[in-house]
Amino acid sequence: MGDSRALSREEALRLEAPHWKHACHVLLYAPCPGRLFGKIPLRYAVLMQMRFDGRLGFPGGFVDPQDFSLEEGLSRELQEELGPGASLLRVTEEDYLNSHTSEKPQRVVAHFYVKQLSLEELQTLEEKAIQAKDHGLEVMGLFRVPLYILRDGVGGLPAFLTNTFIGNAREQLIHALDTFQLVPKEQLQKAVKMAQKKP
Ligand code: AMP
Ligand code: MN
Repeated sequence: MGDSRALSREEALRLEAPHWKHACHVLLYAPCPGRLFGKIPLRYAVLMQMRFDGRLGFPGGFVDPQDFSLEEGLSRELQEELGPGASLLRVTEEDYLNSHTSEKPQRVVAHFYVKQLSLEELQTLEEKAIQAKDHGLEVMGLFRVPLYILRDGVGGLPAFLTNTFIGNAREQLIHALDTFQLVPKEQLQKAVKMAQKKP
């Protein structure tokens, strides 16, 4: 989204209801030793979801004014969207990465978290996600993000980045891939650049 602005957690928490709604989303990832076609290193399994509106985003959602904290609101949303596997997850303030505001189509403060899991934990989440209350409703499915670039220079991450994302989810993804070194910097830059050249 073009109108998104970064701000500190403290500054973000001063933006209050009813003018502002707070939303929390999380990128969950695990080291993934596998190779595609026995050749291309997968590096990490990074989870995103296809939303009800056809856009891609991260699990999470709006924090209710009744929620005690941002993290409690996030954990309630994760329970609804990821199902029983979410009980094994504890996303805490330590997993917080950043906050952004956007004013259109409504005033939203989007808080973003990143949490590393073991591959076994991530697989359990994937298996149980179809039991989630929101499965087939607000969440059409969880999936892993392709982090590699295929030999044609487009397939993989560049093609993935040409999808339509909700809010600032695309920027959140790129920032996290960079910050946590889930994709080497020059590969990430190449993918972002390739994604700009729409065929
Ligand atoms: P949700 O209830 O998941 O639709 O989230 C509430 C709002 O947060 C969305 O309507 C978006 O405006 C905003 N948002 C910001 N970043 C994201 C993200 N990464 N994934 C999903 N929604 C986001
Ligand atoms: Mn949601």
